[in-house]
Amino acid sequence: MQKRKLEPETLRCRCGRELTTATANVYHSHLNRYVFHRCECGLEWTERFEEVDRSEPISGDELLAVHQVLLGYEGRVPDLLQEAFA
Ligand SMILES: [Zn+2]
Repeated sequence: MQKRKLEPETLRCRCGRELTTATANVYHSHLNRYVFHRCECGLEWTERFEEVDRSEPISGDELLAVHQVLLGYEGRVPDLLQEAFA
């Protein structure tokens, strides 16, 4: 009997095949990217990834600014948002 190294990183289908051996078809929709997987045993599953809206890139600086505002803000976030969009 072969001894197999323990590889927790390796995900397996319920049939025992590694998920990396399954076929994968990628489809793009407007907002999402779907990856359809099909294992040789017939099991199919779908992964959905949200596409990043590249038309409006957010810079790291902007993210930091948001975090700093939230850190210094005492109150309810909905109130903060209302102030921001008032
Ligand atoms: Zn399988």
